[in-house]
Amino acid sequence: MSHHSTATLKPGLYIVATPIGNLGDITVRAAEVLAACDGVACEDTRVTGKLMKHLGLSKPLWRYDDHASDKDRIRLIESMSLRAVALVSDAGTPLVSDPGYRLVREAREAGVAVTSIPGPCAVIVGLTLAGLPNDRFMFGGFLPAKDKARRDALDELGSVPATLVFYETAPRLLRSLEAIGEILPNREIAVARELTKLHEECRTGSADELSNYYGAHPPKGEIVLLVGPPPPRDPSPDDAEGQLIEALETLKPSQAASLVAKATGLDRRALYARALELRGG
Ligand code: SAM
Repeated sequence: MSHHSTATLKPGLYIVATPIGNLGDITVRAAEVLAACDGVACEDTRVTGKLMKHLGLSKPLWRYDDHASDKDRIRLIESMSLRAVALVSDAGTPLVSDPGYRLVREAREAGVAVTSIPGPCAVIVGLTLAGLPNDRFMFGGFLPAKDKARRDALDELGSVPATLVFYETAPRLLRSLEAIGEILPNREIAVARELTKLHEECRTGSADELSNYYGAHPPKGEIVLLVGPPPPRDPSPDDAEGQLIEALETLKPSQAASLVAKATGLDRRALYARALELRGG
């Protein structure tokens, strides 16, 4: 299927990611699917209308979100057995803090072919910019707006051994940074703002540094807030003792001490002395 073909698409549901601010980020495949589909289910027909106009396309647009009535959703899914229906959100990847999961779930249940056309997603762009560990990350959606609920959410996520990623709004950023400073102190924080747009910015620092900065320079625009993982737990002497006892079952005291020193970062000579005691006793 080439860009300008009039190729038809097989009937089904096509989940299409769209730009998060820079129209140049539309993928070739997204543009092809939007050109070839029979209609587009979208959050806001005005927002999607602008994108379609930019692409030189005119298609039926149907307003859809997860609060749509069962009847509307069933009708939309029924139409997918005959027509190619694209699902887009206002920006980025549908279903990521955006409508669509009910539609996808019920389309699958109805045996409709579901295809995803990947593209921009603010979570991922934030992660690539922040320079925080990302071998593990956890997307936390939007933090709650109310103080108590926000603190509870941070408390709950605080023990997750991963970088936390949140969607945030400009008016709430400062209060979130303050809450993080209190509840998750000693974390590296990144504020990634206006991604892919003219005023793209990514600032890193402690929660206090960033609160000071944004207190003095109230932010505008769209924000991804990232919180680095908790510092590795100091191995407790008890852990080391257990490891030493286990190692001594098969190793000489000196070898056991070296092994446990490597695993825990504790002093090898102290471990060796303890190993001799354990062996003796
Ligand atoms: N589905 C979208 C995606 O894939 O990124 C996210 C939709 S969510 C309703 C909107 C939130 O995403 C914004 O409040 C902001 O936190 C984040 N966001 C979207 N575009 C952004 C951008 N260009 N820069 C920073 N954050 C953005």
